[in-house]
Amino acid sequence: MTRSTERTVDGLTVRVDHELCSGAGVCRDRLGEVYELVESRAWIRDDAEFEGRRADLDMTETACPWFAIEVTTA
Ligand code: SF4
Repeated sequence: MTRSTERTVDGLTVRVDHELCSGAGVCRDRLGEVYELVESRAWIRDDAEFEGRRADLDMTETACPWFAIEVTTA
């Protein structure tokens, strides 16, 4: 599995700032289809689909305790 800290799919861009991410895993626990934890940091899975998940992605942005996730329209 390859992974990245920024990915644009289906008109949405999701970014994880590793300078802010604590690796606590709230995003992975809530949306494991998009995020995974590796070496105490969250990554965006390369097989993640964003279509139909805007509300869930926005929820992870809000839920991240370190404000490390940014969801924007591409
Ligand atoms: S919820 Fe935020 S701080 Fe926690 S692992 Fe995900 S991106 Fe990192």
